[in-house]
Amino acid sequence: MHVLVTGGAGYIGAHACKALARAGFIPVAFDNLSTGWAEAVKFGPLHEGDLMDRASIDAAFARYQPVAVMHFAALSLVGESMSNPGKYWRTNVTGSLNLIEASLAAGCRNFVFSSTCATYGDQDGVVLDEDTVQQPINAYGGSKKAIEEILRDFGKSDGLNHVIFRYFNVAGADPEGEVGEQHVPETHLIPLMLDAIDGKRPALTVFGSDYPTKDGTCIRDYVHVSDLVDAHVLGLRWLLEGRGNRVFCLGSGQGFSVREVIEASRLVTNRDVPIIEGGRRAGDATSLVSGSTRAVSELGWVPQRSTLAQMIGDALVWSRKAPFES
Ligand code: UDP
Repeated sequence: MHVLVTGGAGYIGAHACKALARAGFIPVAFDNLSTGWAEAVKFGPLHEGDLMDRASIDAAFARYQPVAVMHFAALSLVGESMSNPGKYWRTNVTGSLNLIEASLAAGCRNFVFSSTCATYGDQDGVVLDEDTVQQPINAYGGSKKAIEEILRDFGKSDGLNHVIFRYFNVAGADPEGEVGEQHVPETHLIPLMLDAIDGKRPALTVFGSDYPTKDGTCIRDYVHVSDLVDAHVLGLRWLLEGRGNRVFCLGSGQGFSVREVIEASRLVTNRDVPIIEGGRRAGDATSLVSGSTRAVSELGWVPQRSTLAQMIGDALVWSRKAPFES
């Protein structure tokens, strides 16, 4: 059984392909390689295509006849979405619409969607779950919320079965070192911090020390990428068993400030993190922490590696390995 994995050459998509292959599916990585890596496609075929090009999506459905779609491909940088909102709305929403329509035209009605806690916006310490009202404060979160709404509409009009995962902050790398996180440019906290520790960058800039939190820095809930993709396989099975449309939050349920992540990295590596105190980054929410147990209770999700030390340790092994080159 083929599963079409958009963004399958990217960070989370590549880990999902590994988990799918391990679960007995054939993952087809659909990717335009704009930010992904051909070398990360190791667990099934690569189909180069672009979600803005409907014909290339149709070709992938015709060739592989997948039983389901896992849709990871998206622009996902909060800061960039604030400075270039048009790019985010156009790419994320139009690309997803093209994909949904192509999927339905090909008779594929099972859709797993990668959404985000950025759809919640800044809710002043509220513990977030699937029923929390979504009030995005950046174009990234806005575009993802819109896609959730599109999925609901197509669920009603065309019987599109969908599972929506709202991720908190994804971190870590494949424990076997086959794939990991590599962005150009890198903007995410943990890889930047590890680079600063290893002297590959001069320092980590802390984006804002005046937030109303315990130490003034933003709080996030970090979840290991391997745990996250395990939930996707469970979500796929849920759909294939006909269990209906559902939203699941995926987080560890624990919030850590930027300074706490820095301290955890110091403990894991036994080295200080050189830091620069910077201003706030536009679009950042003060605190995003999951309060949901739905994925655990309904999907049977059992996160295995989502402690801060484990995520940093796995990311460190990956970052010190030879990175992807093409
Ligand atoms: N952050 C930071 N310095 C950096 C990158 C990130 O202080 O160089 C902070 C950022 O403001 C946020 C947290 O780290 O509070 C996580 O940011 P990241 O970009 O990793 O993920 P996001 O929360 O934007 O999805």
